[in-house]
Amino acid sequence: MTGSTAASFTADDYRARMERAARTAAEAGLAGLLVAPGPDLVWLTGYTPPAVTERLTLLVLAAGQEPVLVVPALEAPDARRAAGAAALTLRDWIDGKDPYAATAALLDTSGRFGISDNAWALHLLALQRALPGSSYASLTEALPMLRAVKDAAELDLMTAAGAAADATFEEIRNVPFTGRREAEVAADLDRLLRRHGHQQVDFTIVASGPNGANPHHEAGERVIARGDMVVLDFGGLRDGYGSDTSRTVHVGEPTDEERRVHAVVRDAQEAGFRAVRPGAACQDVDRAARRVIADAGYGEYFIHRTGHGIGVTTHEPPYMIEGEERPLVPGMCFSVEPGIYLPGRFGVRIEDIVTVTEDGGRRLNTTPRELVIVE
Ligand code: ZN
Ligand code: ZN
Ligand code: ZN
Repeated sequence: MTGSTAASFTADDYRARMERAARTAAEAGLAGLLVAPGPDLVWLTGYTPPAVTERLTLLVLAAGQEPVLVVPALEAPDARRAAGAAALTLRDWIDGKDPYAATAALLDTSGRFGISDNAWALHLLALQRALPGSSYASLTEALPMLRAVKDAAELDLMTAAGAAADATFEEIRNVPFTGRREAEVAADLDRLLRRHGHQQVDFTIVASGPNGANPHHEAGERVIARGDMVVLDFGGLRDGYGSDTSRTVHVGEPTDEERRVHAVVRDAQEAGFRAVRPGAACQDVDRAARRVIADAGYGEYFIHRTGHGIGVTTHEPPYMIEGEERPLVPGMCFSVEPGIYLPGRFGVRIEDIVTVTEDGGRRLNTTPRELVIVE
C-alpha cells in the first residue's frame, strides 16, 4: 500500500514531520504523541508493519526527545528498512517482556498524550495501567490539521492519484450500463482504478435509480435500466495518496427534471469550488455550495457536509461543514461534493478533490461535470 511512496520521501522529510508533530503537540499542551500502526505512522515514518497484531508497535514522540519506535523484536528488521527509520531510535522488545513498561519508562508518568485514533483499546488500556497518572486525547481531535497541508511532493502524488481516477471515469463512461448489475460496473471501476496505478481501492459506489438517493449505497444486485440516473463515486490510494471523485451519469436521454437537478448540483459544486481561497473558513465552502441548492428549492435533500480532507487516507480533516471555522491554507486538499437525494427516485452528486493555492483553488479532477449520457 505504501511501497512506492517510500521513494518519494527521505529520512529528512520524515524527521521534519516528526519534529513538527512533536512541536505541535507541545503547543497543544500535550506531553507527547503515541502513534500506532496506521495512516499517522505511515505519514510520520513511512513504516507499515507486516501485520497489525496484539504485539505493540508504537511511535513515541515528545518535544525535545529523540523519536523512539517501540517495535516487536521479530519485526525490527522490517522497521529498520522503512524510509523514516534513519530518523528515529528503535526500541525492540521480545515476547515475554512487557512493552508497556518499556514505553512508560520513556514518558512523563503524569502526562497527557495524544494517541492515534486507530490504536487498539488493548494497547491504550495497558498504557493507562503502566502510567496510572496519564491521560489521553484523540490525535485527530487534538491535532486535526497535522497532515492537512501537503508539501510539493505530496501534491504531486495527490495530482497523480486524481488523474488516475479521471482516467478511470473516461473509461467507465464507455462501458455498457443497461442490463448490467451495479456490482458488475463496480468491479469494472475496481479493475480500472488498479490498472491506472491504485494499489488500494477504498470504495466503488454505483448507485442506480432510487439507490442513488442513498449517498453511501454499496453497489448491489440491482440491474441498471434505461432512464436511470447512476451515481458513481470511487477512489482509493495510489502510491500512498488518495483519490475520490463522483460523477452522476444518465442511461439514455434524461428528463427535463433530471437535467435540472443535475445542473443545480453542478452549479453548487462550482460555487463551492469558487469559495476556495486562503483565509476563507472551511464552512464558507459548505455555505457557498449549500446556498445554491437551497435557493433552487432542494435544501432539505442535501443531507451531508460538502467535503472532507484527503491525503494518506481518503477521509480525514479538514471537514467542509457548518461550524468549522478553521481557515483554508495553501496545500490543503479536500473534496467539494454537494448532492441532491430524492428519496425513492434518484440522486445526483458531483465531487472533485480541490487543493488550495496562493490565490484560490485547483481541481485535481477535471473530467466533464456536465451530465454524461451512457448506454
Ligand atoms: Zn432518467
Ligand atoms: Zn466520493
Ligand atoms: Zn468524498
